[in-house]
Amino acid sequence: MTKIGFLGLGTMGAGMAAQLLAKGFDLTVWNRSRAKADALAEHGAKVGSTPADTAAHADIVIAMLADDEASREIWLGAQGALAAMKPGAVAIESSTLTIDWVRELANVANDRGVGFLDAPVTGSKQQAKEGTLKFLVGGTDEVVAQARSVLDAMSTDVVHLGPNGSGAILKLVNNFLCGVQVASTAEAVAMIERCGLDATRAVALLAGGAPGSPLVSAISQRMLDHAYEPNFLPQLMAKDLAYAKAAFAAQGINLASADAARARFDAAVAEGFADKDIASIVEPLRRV
Ligand code: NAP
Repeated sequence: MTKIGFLGLGTMGAGMAAQLLAKGFDLTVWNRSRAKADALAEHGAKVGSTPADTAAHADIVIAMLADDEASREIWLGAQGALAAMKPGAVAIESSTLTIDWVRELANVANDRGVGFLDAPVTGSKQQAKEGTLKFLVGGTDEVVAQARSVLDAMSTDVVHLGPNGSGAILKLVNNFLCGVQVASTAEAVAMIERCGLDATRAVALLAGGAPGSPLVSAISQRMLDHAYEPNFLPQLMAKDLAYAKAAFAAQGINLASADAARARFDAAVAEGFADKDIASIVEPLRRV
């Protein structure tokens, strides 16, 4: 049976790892804060003491971490997973990261005889929990084939886009579009409320009309309901917009709209919403 090591059990990783357990994989998990790993142990996961220990016997190791710094530490740090992996095993990075770091990590993995996929996801907490994410994948056909059954267990779609880095590129493009929509939706909701319109009817018209999208519909409803239980944290979206800004700049494209959107997520963090959902970015606008 395929042995899997899973590193990072936050909002997304916890749901993804639970899906792997539910589908019968032999799973060892690790998280910086041990309590989140213990919660999965109650459902049959083994708990590793370090990333290296978690990866040592695995055929496939998956990471779902906050950012480049966390990813670097967990793969290449003193107790890092990569040096412990068996030749021929596969490392899968599913966190949203910079393209440069993903390519650097891919090179280190390949030099050590470990297959590597960048496989960030679209979908959020609910989709992770239900196993209905979509993977945006960069890597070779051979490594995708090796990892396929594991990716399928957590998703409805595995979209292989090209060589290493391809998944990371499209993920940053995706989250640029998402971040700008969430920021502009917050500004629109604040305007509607400030002018005294019937917010429910006004937002329904917008969400069902030309500006509507699945994200605008969902996020505007959460803003109206003040429903801020975290699906996605504002500082993670700010990070994604910063990573997107740098990636686009490397291609000569200035993401002016990402700068403006990022300021809304930074403001929410500064004003006490760091542990709330991204929909809470409307609150600083309501206070003006
Ligand atoms: P999260 O709930 O904040 O979890 C972050 C994870 O990273 C936790 O396991 C955390 O450990 C770990 N971590 C952070 N810094 C670390 C460090 N220095 N060393 C070791 N571990 C560290 O985030 P999430 O929502 O699951 O997101 C995870 C990744 O998926 C991010 O890259 C995010 O941008 C991306 N993503 C999120 C969503 C979403 O809707 N939430 C959707 C798609 C993609 P602790 O538990 O110890 O803090």
